[in-house]
Amino acid sequence: MKKVSDDVFEQPATINNHGHARKVPEITERVLFEADRVSSALLCMTNLVDESGRSTPVDAPEGISQYDDYLDARKPRGSQLRTYSLATITPQMTPDMVRPLKEAGAIGLKFLPSGMTTGSGEGIADPRSIIPILKAAAACNLPWMPHCEKPGMDPNEAVNALIPWLDYVVHNVLGLRTIVAHTNTKRLFEWGADLPKTIDLAFEVAAHYMMRSNADQAGPHWKCKPLYGDPEDMAAVQLAGLAGEWGSRLVIWGEDVAPHWYRHKSGENAPFGVFLPDDVAFAWLVEFFEQSGHANWKRRLEQLTFHNASKWWWGTSQPTQWLRVKREDWVVPTLYEAGIDSIVCPLGGTTLKWKATKI
Ligand SMILES: [Zn+2]
Repeated sequence: MKKVSDDVFEQPATINNHGHARKVPEITERVLFEADRVSSALLCMTNLVDESGRSTPVDAPEGISQYDDYLDARKPRGSQLRTYSLATITPQMTPDMVRPLKEAGAIGLKFLPSGMTTGSGEGIADPRSIIPILKAAAACNLPWMPHCEKPGMDPNEAVNALIPWLDYVVHNVLGLRTIVAHTNTKRLFEWGADLPKTIDLAFEVAAHYMMRSNADQAGPHWKCKPLYGDPEDMAAVQLAGLAGEWGSRLVIWGEDVAPHWYRHKSGENAPFGVFLPDDVAFAWLVEFFEQSGHANWKRRLEQLTFHNASKWWWGTSQPTQWLRVKREDWVVPTLYEAGIDSIVCPLGGTTLKWKATKI
């Protein structure tokens, strides 16, 4: 962090640990364009959802290079944004596909229980069935990212319901590196912190779980999975984010950028997924960190939004791009054009107090 004046500072461009591209090219272009404003890297989930909500997961090596080419072709011209993809664990994936997936460029494996959220039709019904895949991942040092939620349960219990199984996995698949996606319950943090130090596990947190709980009003555009936790859970996400760790576990920012067209996202049956573009989520975080009152809030923000991800994924902390962050009021747009329709940002119309741009 470099302080320029009381109202201006500079920090490394962010790493967003969690974004979703879509089958609609213009939606993917929008995601990448917005990420490129403040992020140097975006980790992408390879379940490409089409207009009708159907998903094509990437679970084979040839799919990874096609997916990467798809993203590269849709990045803004001249952009230095790096994208990384996580292959999706499907019932069709076999252990001998894991090393070739890594060689094809996959940075990790994403696990989604079936029937849980948008595009999770391809997910796993019986988590125990993927143990051989996770063993193969550990053998070639490929991390996995579980989306923790057990379908068909009371939503408030669904996230924690997966803890016993996760516990079994991390104790029995030796050497496996785990990053828990969008962690949003206190119990998940406490479970992770109590694990033996030899187990490598990090937490991903999103700004929307840091700022909102199930006590807040939620229209269709705030609707997402996992569902918002209790206020006590939200407070835990805040603590984790501000500290950049829980126990000795690293905490990493990933916004779970999950866009849908307006025509699909309105109404009661709206699909899950929040669209908070990287620069909006980051500015929201800056404001929250400042209001926390910590003397070193800028340094903490930098840990959460850059260093922790860089360290955990690549073992380095060397920035490639920088941001200038300025105290300046700006109003978040409500509609983001994407081809024949728009995407709604649920923070649209809100005035944020900090504005970040790449330098
Ligand atoms: Zn996601």
